[in-house]
Amino acid sequence: MKYVSTRGSTPEQTFEDVLLSGLARDGGLFVPTAWPHVGPSEMAALEPLSYTRIVTRIVRPFIEESLISDAELAQIVDQAYAGFRDPAIAPLRQIDDDTWLLELFHGPTLAFKDFALQLLGGLFDHVLGKRGEHLTIVGATSGDTGSAAIEACRDRDNLDIFMLFPEGRVSEVQRRQMTTVRSKNVFNIALRGTFDDCQDLVKAMFADHELRDSLNLSAVNSINWARVMGQTAYYFAAAAKLPVPDAKLSFVVPTGNFGNVYAGYAARKMGLPIEKLVVASNRNDILYRFFAQGDMTITEVEASLSPSMDIQVSSNFERLLFDLLDRDGAAVLAAMQAFRAEGALPGASRLSAEARDLFEAQRLDDAETLDVIRSVHEECGILLDPHTAVAVGAARKTPRDGNQRIVLATAHPAKFPDAVEKATGLRPELPVHLADLLDRDETAETLDNDFMAVRDYVCAHAVSR
Ligand SMILES: *Cc1c(COP(=O)(O)O)cnc(C)c1O
Repeated sequence: MKYVSTRGSTPEQTFEDVLLSGLARDGGLFVPTAWPHVGPSEMAALEPLSYTRIVTRIVRPFIEESLISDAELAQIVDQAYAGFRDPAIAPLRQIDDDTWLLELFHGPTLAFKDFALQLLGGLFDHVLGKRGEHLTIVGATSGDTGSAAIEACRDRDNLDIFMLFPEGRVSEVQRRQMTTVRSKNVFNIALRGTFDDCQDLVKAMFADHELRDSLNLSAVNSINWARVMGQTAYYFAAAAKLPVPDAKLSFVVPTGNFGNVYAGYAARKMGLPIEKLVVASNRNDILYRFFAQGDMTITEVEASLSPSMDIQVSSNFERLLFDLLDRDGAAVLAAMQAFRAEGALPGASRLSAEARDLFEAQRLDDAETLDVIRSVHEECGILLDPHTAVAVGAARKTPRDGNQRIVLATAHPAKFPDAVEKATGLRPELPVHLADLLDRDETAETLDNDFMAVRDYVCAHAVSR
């Protein structure tokens, strides 16, 4: 399998290149040159398989065998999902006649990002080991992705990870999910500054070429192709395990950066018969406006109860745009430049009409989100986190069409206890393996918002080559 950039001026790359570089040199995102096909008989063969064997089958064609053999891949996949707390890994749970929750929050940090990042961490470690290289990962977090990245990188031989977060500005649970990790290659930095200061320092480290080269700096990028690839597998697994024969399928996806729902699109391109992909947005509704109204104009980001979806420019959307523009990289580049410069995507109405064959969109505000959490609890006794609630609400706004609707449940309710308590009066409890999180010892280095201080700390602690 070879990969091309959505902006068309990077030569074709191997999986190894794409994994390690993340973003293409021309600023585009990598996509496969062709989609591997999973035919009906192979689809039927997935049904009895375990989750991990389904992953192995689905991701195999994307990775060259000279880089990772079948046996190595099986081992990396087994290890990636070994820390998940549900034996099914991604269990399905029915909530009414035609609606199911696909629970993607049984990983170590209780959110669906573990599915992609745990696999990414294993792939990185393997490939680096083979090349005899070492990477220093640096990142900034406002709370959510930091812990998933740390859990993905901890205890790996060929990686160190440094995570900057703004001191006093992340929730206690989020902070503790980072600072209580005991691993010799994990370094938390509590910065006396804001999230933007953290991001600026990370950018400054990448801009310091001497530092960048001596430490082999890298990021666990949200647009890395391997993340999309890892997520594609649970769409196949859900379809294989749904106990409704010959069901027509819709997936309803709480959407921020468009990575999760794009993985559904990739599954469909590979042959999974998905009738509809429903994009669920909160008040930051630019994707809703694109798919439902044919307009994609950037507005201010507003804080909502579902913070991981508080996004206006969804980076993975560019991958869909590439297909909507007939895989013409120059056209994607021009469209993205105009989008950034003018704040609106040119030709949105025509592109949206084409996308509507498969995509639909719905949006919910905070009051509606709380209503969904309350009513699902009353009707089914299930507590939903606010992101999942946006998607359940979106499913309910979509007219019934005979399809089975699979709603992606992206976070455990205990990750967002305040919203759940506000809606239901109940404060969800952390699962057993995290029950003592609030009592564990924390380690973080507190540093001033000062480039040299952070640089010195990183240099002193990274394993340099
Ligand atoms: C990241 C995240 C999302 C959004 O997923 P995208 O792939 O960015 O669209 C939704 N819900 C939760 C809980 C998340 O952490």
